[in-house]
Amino acid sequence: MTNELHWHAYAYTSPQGVVPGDDEAPFDADDWLRRPARAITATFEKPEAAAVWMHQQLAANPPWSEGEHGYAHATLFTRQYLHIDQDQTPWAYYLDRHDRIVMRLLAPCPRPRPPSRPAELYPWEKPPPPCPLGAPTP
Ligand SMILES: [Zn+2]
Repeated sequence: MTNELHWHAYAYTSPQGVVPGDDEAPFDADDWLRRPARAITATFEKPEAAAVWMHQQLAANPPWSEGEHGYAHATLFTRQYLHIDQDQTPWAYYLDRHDRIVMRLLAPCPRPRPPSRPAELYPWEKPPPPCPLGAPTP
């Protein structure tokens, strides 16, 4: 791994019947990156490859309704986030046709540089996690 921008893919599918919010999938990319490296499903150095992964994941796990916000969000914004707004995290979060919560997330890494002075962090903020695969921090 270099310190070039790359994306770590994370995938979570709940058992049937889990209520959204009661699942075990954190929503913050930092929380995923703090998990052990074995939690990573795949790592992509090219945005095109990351986009293909997300597309395949959505196709393999059809939503209960294509109008679901967390499904539509991924179909609308994944490419924009991967190519233009690269500090944004592409994500999908929706109920599939088997009544399971599907969460897919592409965490951009390395994370944005932390504030230069710790005092600039709000008390509830933690410094961003390092690359779980050991890429040097810029
Ligand atoms: Zn990384």
